[in-house]
Amino acid sequence: MSAQTDTPHRATTDQPLPVLGRDVTVPLVTGGEVTYAALDYAASTPALQRVWDDIAAYAPYYGSVHRGAGYLSQLSTDLFENSRRTVAGFLGCREDDQVVFTRSTTDSLNLLAAVLPAGCEVFVFETEHHASLLPWRDAPVSFLNAPRTPEEAVATLERALAGRDPKGPALVCVTGASNVTGELWPVRELAAVAHAHGARVVLDAAQLAPHHPVDITELDVDWVAFSGHKLYAPFGSGVLAGRADWLRESEPYLAGGGASRKVARRADGGVDVEWHTTEARHEAGSPNVIGVYAIASACKALTEAGFDRLVEREQELVARVREELAEVPEVRVLSLFGDDAPRVGVISFVVEGWNSSHFAAALSAEYGIGVRDGLFCAHPLVRTLLGGDAGDPGECGAPDAGPGERSLNAIRVSFGAGT
Ligand code: PLP
Repeated sequence: MSAQTDTPHRATTDQPLPVLGRDVTVPLVTGGEVTYAALDYAASTPALQRVWDDIAAYAPYYGSVHRGAGYLSQLSTDLFENSRRTVAGFLGCREDDQVVFTRSTTDSLNLLAAVLPAGCEVFVFETEHHASLLPWRDAPVSFLNAPRTPEEAVATLERALAGRDPKGPALVCVTGASNVTGELWPVRELAAVAHAHGARVVLDAAQLAPHHPVDITELDVDWVAFSGHKLYAPFGSGVLAGRADWLRESEPYLAGGGASRKVARRADGGVDVEWHTTEARHEAGSPNVIGVYAIASACKALTEAGFDRLVEREQELVARVREELAEVPEVRVLSLFGDDAPRVGVISFVVEGWNSSHFAAALSAEYGIGVRDGLFCAHPLVRTLLGGDAGDPGECGAPDAGPGERSLNAIRVSFGAGT
């Protein structure tokens, strides 16, 4: 079996990467059908055709990972462990980094939260996605105020860390690209400040990795987290990659088979467990080999297509969308760092006189355009951007303002290499 395909997936300079769903037609309220326009990549990207082909080639050979002597089990185990190496290469991991497969970025950050050493302080900007903001429940957390420039972000972190005892453990959680504004954060500079104060850094790359190369060594961050379903591999897997020590020294995130190396009854009737010290420690249970293979396939496809070219093409789209939005006087594009800030293909805006939820619903029902509306699981940030009067939307949803009332939430269009 060869799970690799020879299909030419390389796009030419002005073409998107081939993705599934490009020809999907959807019904319109006005009658008839239209080809769906997927502009919600920041929520989930479509699958790359290459990812789909690789999975389809592997599917008949599906077997249990790390659990069988049979051929299919061996093959699946190989595929799973090779995928780990592919992801390590994609992220430019250091020799002794671990690549743990999880369900998603949220899962990865909760895993990291579960392995923090005792007394670890956590520093996180209030502007983060809830997946970065909320997992640190058992640690003393400092929520840093929203900065209005990248320089202010660095200065804010510097102030927050100044005076802490650099010998005590601390973690700074930073985002690579905002899921609301698409703006890039000064990751390297923030990491340098954190390290100067003895803190470690985890990069939430959920929105950065699909749009930019992420090199853990070059950025000098300690961990990187991202999700397959935002990287053209929507099959239920994610990654936490980085320093092995905290991962190795803690209790397993999940207890169970696969994480344990040796289990024995004690004379007193209890059970003694020796846990693995490899990634398996935090991967208890039968792993999602399809999802993991899909991530590796997407990493290869993006690398082979040439990230520079993908970035260049996406930036042209960003400029075009922003120019066209700027021509509509009722539209206000949301930005923390200002118009000139570098950003990825994630753009949020409000339309004066429109409830954003109604606007997004109309785009879908009347034009077949799929966007997102709401507060994007980043409630503090969107409230700051909307002037502090955003609604109370319930879990990641949209507040219900009446037609014609001032927007309490926003509309987001997002796109990428498959657009
Ligand atoms: N971080 C950022 C910046 C995100 O945009 C998202 C999802 O939108 C997440 C984390 C959480 O990702 P997931 O839902 O795949 O866990």
